Amino acid sequence: MKKQFAVIGLGRFGSSITKALSREGFEVLAIDVNEEKVNQFASIATHAVVADATEENTLKSLGIRNFDHVVVAIGDNIQSSILTTLMLVEQGVNHITVKAQNDYHEKVLLKIGAHKVVHPERDMGIRIAHNIVSKNVLDYLELSDEYSIVELVAGMKVDGRSLIDLDLRAIYECNVMAIKRGEEVNVSPAPKDILYDGDIIIVIGADEDITRMEEELF
Ligand code: ATP
Ligand code: ATP
Ligand code: CA
Repeated sequence: MKKQFAVIGLGRFGSSITKALSREGFEVLAIDVNEEKVNQFASIATHAVVADATEENTLKSLGIRNFDHVVVAIGDNIQSSILTTLMLVEQGVNHITVKAQNDYHEKVLLKIGAHKVVHPERDMGIRIAHNIVSKNVLDYLELSDEYSIVELVAGMKVDGRSLIDLDLRAIYECNVMAIKRGEEVNVSPAPKDILYDGDIIIVIGADEDITRMEEELF
């Protein structure tokens, strides 16, 4: 059986999640207090209902605990977001993901039992900052406070050089996970594989090592 999702709050974030899940073929229940927003999802989500998620009985009557994963995407109203999350926890929902506005909000959400807290604006800000600071960084994924995965464009400094020649693992403690050249993707690069100007390489490593490597080679 396909997983069943519920998304509470159809602002920009909740809308985007609802659309993406629906496009992937999952069943999605879309919930918002705002009737206009709910109407926009009538033909996109499996079900779209007008409801106030802070009302315990409303959540119960929607059978919210039967959903595999509930996403709380109530943005600006932190109080509603916390109250809704608390009730989802109390009703025993298996996976609860909540969008946080700030670090305090995140702390409270985790304390009351949210399983995952996301900060889309903050994370996107970090990714975009990396992208505009260095023209060679295409994308950036933070793994932890210390480690990341980055997508870099190879330039003339590495053109025609093999991984063994560049010795990235020894010098920067960075590992090349994949090399993209046009449509071709090499997902297990060998030491003898050569980089060319314009290749896109995906590298995993510590932030400071990646930065050093970026400055010296990209
Ligand atoms: P985003 O920050 O995700 O880009 P946004 O800033 O438009 O979007 P908000 O307006 O803060 O987001 O809230 C998202 C949605 O949550 C709104 O559509 C709002 O109507 C809905 N919402 C707020 N409180 C509740 C509630 N108690 N129950 C259900 N939906 C709610
Ligand atoms: P080790 O793998 O432990 O570094 P090694 O010398 O046996 O030791 P090889 O796989 O033969 O490793 O590769 C030689 C060198 O080439 C590595 O030390 C590393 O610097 C570089 N290298 C090879 N593959 C990669 C990769 N995917 N990412 C980064 N560097 C690589
Ligand atoms: Ca917002």
